[in-house]
Amino acid sequence: MSNLSKYTFDKCVTTVTPCSIFHPWNSNCFGGLLVFATNVFLGSTKFFLPIYVVKLMLNYKKINQRKFVEEQILGYLRSVAYGVSFGSLFLISCCTISKIWINYFIVMQAGAVGALSLLIESTENKNMDKILFFNQLIEIFINVLTSKRIIIRNRWTETLAFMLVTSNLMYLFKTRKIKQKIPLLWFYPERSIYNVSEKRNGFPLDELCQHKKSCFDYSLDGGYNFFFIGYLLEIVRKFLPKMYIYVNTPKLIPLLLLHKDNLMMGSFLGGFVFIYRSIRCYFQQKERKELPSHTLIAALIASGTYVIKPNIQIFIIALTTTLQLLWERFSFYFNLPKKISYSQLLFCISGGILLHYRIMMPDQCPKYVKNMVDIATNNMSTTLQNRFFADIKEIELFMDGLNKNI
Ligand SMILES: [Zn+2]
Ligand SMILES: [Zn+2]
Repeated sequence: MSNLSKYTFDKCVTTVTPCSIFHPWNSNCFGGLLVFATNVFLGSTKFFLPIYVVKLMLNYKKINQRKFVEEQILGYLRSVAYGVSFGSLFLISCCTISKIWINYFIVMQAGAVGALSLLIESTENKNMDKILFFNQLIEIFINVLTSKRIIIRNRWTETLAFMLVTSNLMYLFKTRKIKQKIPLLWFYPERSIYNVSEKRNGFPLDELCQHKKSCFDYSLDGGYNFFFIGYLLEIVRKFLPKMYIYVNTPKLIPLLLLHKDNLMMGSFLGGFVFIYRSIRCYFQQKERKELPSHTLIAALIASGTYVIKPNIQIFIIALTTTLQLLWERFSFYFNLPKKISYSQLLFCISGGILLHYRIMMPDQCPKYVKNMVDIATNNMSTTLQNRFFADIKEIELFMDGLNKNI
């Protein structure tokens, strides 16, 4: 696989190129759309199923409640409808735009229009999709910077960057005055120093540490709990994309449960929480007051545990959460108009760029985006990309031949 450059696209694709280049399975626009929408329907049912299964598993106590199960089924159907609408709008836009003004960024533009379908999703899923797409956008950005050698990625540089980002993130949490309802994915949010009611809840006023146990036990408890969270997270991360394989071959499950990566991930998260809590408690006890700078230093040192199990997804979550908290402050201080849904706008931009990278720049497309688009379109994205690239190659060879003959 290689990327399709703007130069090659502009050379080969012109206003006379038929829009069937975007639906090679059927030269008729309507027929092409029907085939595509059917496949996206099948793909979406497959893509969203594990998400709702996990949701049911996490809420297993409510599984006897008819209302809850009905809500989940409706939510699932709504998600599938969103997938089909996204795919259909995307293809309709490809055909329409290519008839008006064919250009290299056509997939990006059609993707941005398709992303408007998110409006039909439930609020909960909407927020999750927005964050996930934004996270993937950041990953693309990192991939591009890495491929251009603007940043050098290895275990040590990534750890250093993670330490800087995380210390800032925890500082932002600690100094958070305004609290908007924004969904945050960061695994260890810190209580704000300004949140007095929460801070003094049930503790005497001179009590600095907000825990009943000794500082060491408190740190150890946190480390222990987050070790298991990390352990489970790694299992789920490996299990979900290969769910169907594990269901068919249960023999593989013990190997999955005992994989050394789970231990490493547990040590990374558990170690972070243990060190962070220990240092913060130490400063508080020593200086007899709570300062945001304690959080900054504690987080800077604790996030060094990233080196045990570098994980670009967690790094990106830290980065996006930092950007979310900065945006929260920015929009509040500058009193930005609330009527505009900035997050929807960002989702459309992210959706467009992700699809552009999936189809036109597969070499720099994150693995998760590729899998997501491929499953959700029942592999039609691969068919589209392969045929698209083959067609362009054919036109290029034909044009080169013409030039030689002239
Ligand atoms: Zn068409
Ligand atoms: Zn303490």
